[in-house]
Amino acid sequence: MSAQKLYVLGTLQDGGSPHMGCEKLCCAVEKANDYVSSIGVEGAHKSYIFDATPDVVSQANYLRAVSGHNEVAVFLTHAHMGHYTGLMHFGREAYNASETLVYAMPKMTSFLNQNGPWSQLVSLKNITLKPLQENQVVFLDQSLSVTPLKVPHRDEYSETVGYLIKGKNKTALYIPDIDKWSKWTVAIEQLIEQVDYAFLDGTFFLDGEVPRPMAEVPHPFVSETAALLSSLPLKERQKVYFIHLNHSNPARNPEFQGRIALENQGFHFAEFGLSFDL
Ligand SMILES: [Zn+2]
Ligand SMILES: [Zn+2]
Ligand SMILES: [Zn+2]
Repeated sequence: MSAQKLYVLGTLQDGGSPHMGCEKLCCAVEKANDYVSSIGVEGAHKSYIFDATPDVVSQANYLRAVSGHNEVAVFLTHAHMGHYTGLMHFGREAYNASETLVYAMPKMTSFLNQNGPWSQLVSLKNITLKPLQENQVVFLDQSLSVTPLKVPHRDEYSETVGYLIKGKNKTALYIPDIDKWSKWTVAIEQLIEQVDYAFLDGTFFLDGEVPRPMAEVPHPFVSETAALLSSLPLKERQKVYFIHLNHSNPARNPEFQGRIALENQGFHFAEFGLSFDL
C-alpha cells in the first residue's frame, strides 16, 4: 500500500476566481484546476474532505480517484459560503448520498439541523451530523485523528475552527480562515513547531488590496504572517503553505516579486494537486 497522503484540493477564497463582478486581470484568465480552498486526507477505509466548497463535486471526484476510496466523509470549518454550501450536492436533487458523515462543531451542527435546505439533508438521511467539541481528538482509524481548534472569525451563523490532522507519521494544520493571529489565544509560531505542514489563511497579500474597508473582512495579510514568522528557523518557515487566496491576491501569480521574496525565505503557496505524506 502506498503512503498515507494529504492532498490540496483547492486554494481560493470562498468567491473563487473568476469572482463575480471582477473585470480585472486576476479573473480574466480562468486558471485550470483551481477551486475554493479545501484539503483531502486518506483514511484507512474512506477519505476525508475538509470543507464542502461550491466546487466539492470536482474535488470529491479527484479525491476518490487519487485515494482509491469511494466513500468520502466531510469536516466543516464554518458557515461561510465557500466552506459548507457544497453540501447541496449530497442531497436528493444531486448525488442523493446515504448517510455521508459530516463532522461539525455544535453551532454549525444546529445551524444545519435547524435551517433549510440543509435540514432536509439530515431528515432524508443524506448526511449524518457528527458533532465535534473544541480541542477534542476524534480518532478516525488507527492512523488518523482530527482535532478541531476554535479560531476567531466573523461567526454570524457558526463558530469557526481550524483542524489538526494527525496521520501515521506526520501532522498537518489547516486554518483557511482566521481574523488575525493576535486575536487568537494560541501562538501560531509555537503551533507550527508542533506540526509538519501548516496550511494557513493567505486571503490577502497586503492591506488595501481590495476596494472596500478591509476591516470588514479581517484576515492576517500574507505579508503580516510572514513578518510574524520571520524569526523562526528556516525549517519551521518551510512548513507554511498559504491557502484560501482571494481572487485579487497578487501572489496567485507565481511571477509576482512579493511571492518570490517570501518563497526565498522558505514559505510556500499551496497549489491544487500537491500531495504530502501523512
Ligand atoms: Zn473562507
Ligand atoms: Zn479578480
Ligand atoms: Zn469565513
